[in-house]
Amino acid sequence: MSHVAVAVVGGGISGLAAAYELHRRKTPFVLLEKSDRLGGMIRTDRIGGFTIDAGPDSLVTQKPAAIALCEELGLAGRLIPTRVPRTAYVVRDGALHPLPGGSVFGIPAGLGSLAAHRLLSRRGRLRLGLELLTPPKRSHQQREPEEETIGAFFRRRFGTEATEYLAEPLLAGIHSGDVERLSMHALFPRFIEAERKHGSVIRAFRRTAAARPDAPEHQGPFRSFAEGLDTLPRSLAAHLPADALRQGIEVTRLTAGPPYALKTAQGPRVTADHVICALPAHATAPLAAGVDDRLGRLCAGFSDTSVAIVVLAFPRAAVAHPLRGSGFVVPRVEPGLSIAAATWISSKWPGRAPDGHVLLRGFLGGTRRPDALAEPDANLIDTVRGDLTRLLGIHGEPVLARVYRWPRANPQLNVGHPARLAEIDSLLARTPGLQIVGAAFRGVGIADCVAAGRAAGRAAADAVRSAA
Ligand SMILES: Cc1cc2nc3c(=O)[nH]c(=O)nc-3n(C[C@H](O)[C@H](O)[C@H](O)COP(=O)(O)OP(=O)(O)OC[C@H]3O[C@@H](n4cnc5c(N)ncnc54)[C@H](O)[C@@H]3O)c2cc1C
Repeated sequence: MSHVAVAVVGGGISGLAAAYELHRRKTPFVLLEKSDRLGGMIRTDRIGGFTIDAGPDSLVTQKPAAIALCEELGLAGRLIPTRVPRTAYVVRDGALHPLPGGSVFGIPAGLGSLAAHRLLSRRGRLRLGLELLTPPKRSHQQREPEEETIGAFFRRRFGTEATEYLAEPLLAGIHSGDVERLSMHALFPRFIEAERKHGSVIRAFRRTAAARPDAPEHQGPFRSFAEGLDTLPRSLAAHLPADALRQGIEVTRLTAGPPYALKTAQGPRVTADHVICALPAHATAPLAAGVDDRLGRLCAGFSDTSVAIVVLAFPRAAVAHPLRGSGFVVPRVEPGLSIAAATWISSKWPGRAPDGHVLLRGFLGGTRRPDALAEPDANLIDTVRGDLTRLLGIHGEPVLARVYRWPRANPQLNVGHPARLAEIDSLLARTPGLQIVGAAFRGVGIADCVAAGRAAGRAAADAVRSAA
């Protein structure tokens, strides 16, 4: 049995960010990762001249933590913006309709882009514009507004058509979730704040756009690296002492501490004064249960969804559509299509495909098709290829086809999430030395994972120093 000041469980971006902060503060630690690879959901494959991000493909500029970490790691000069045009499309009646430029999730920041909103009917556009005159919900003017689903918020402010064609495929779609269950407050507090402060979301977006002419959004809101997104976890790992990064070690049990005892599937036991769990909620639950039964049950109560990503490459000449943009989403109400969304990877990012080829990826699963992952690869490829053929006019065989499965990878921050999290935090406050981070708990994107991982690393390092 070995003893260490801090054990980090999980080598995704959350765990690596925690480890980075521990190392910076010269705090002894080990990071235990069950697979033979660091980075968790961030994974890049390089196959035959194609650069394929198998999971996430972008860092967002709106939340600064991930970009700031890249700058600290000396990666700032290697960050790349998306290619222009950055147009995103929504499918309606079997055709692709562009979202107006300057809109946020399809919500226009001005009346000009509202008029250009060809996705919505005239009646739908009128109702969307009426948001400017729709009074805020009374409870939303209080400091602690009553929680609402994305669907309820959007219907109230923007009408049914905007809910079906914008909120459902865009806001709920990026979480592979259900628009009638996901929490507007937990996922999009910016909209709630806009209503509370300005009385109208459109008015607030218009003011923000006018106030920030040099905003990073002018290069688009997304960044990656020429070599793919795993540049970030690879660089983080390279900054850490190799002997502290233990891959192929699965933690199977955690017993109350401090010192905490960590049992592993591979045999070696570790004890630690501090433990940072940086795992999905379903993997956190059995470990948390070993420390506090109620904590374990709360973690087990989170829901999640699974997605399959099918990556296909074609000769450019085989695709009739000009692919001038980043891709499209498919509203749930749109009949006859199985995919929820597709990214035109080679149009979105430079250098992802050899000359004369295009690289596309389609998403299946989520709450729309919960059983998608049970299907064999060949079915998933056929389904995505069929939908892309119909929408983009593709002829001939793909030169590359890959399926990536992400079981239980999308945490569902449904209504009730903030209350559950508050209870978890109050139990953790009574459990010295144990911290829980990861996308389900502290924010679903890479930036939030980085911020929370670093904060946990800092807190553990401070506690170790003050105990010395
Ligand atoms: C398809 C997809 C696309 C996405 N796109 C984006 C995007 O473009 N931009 C963005 O910001 N976010 C995106 N996200 C979200 C983002 O990828 C995740 O929120 C983030 O990567 C989660 O990091 P994490 O470290 O919390 O968890 P993970 O990446 O899941 O890491 C957890 C690690 O813990 C390990 N582990 C599990 N159990 C144990 C155990 N018992 N013992 C030891 N190790 C264990 C796992 O092997 C894994 O390596 C996307 C997510 C998905 C699924």
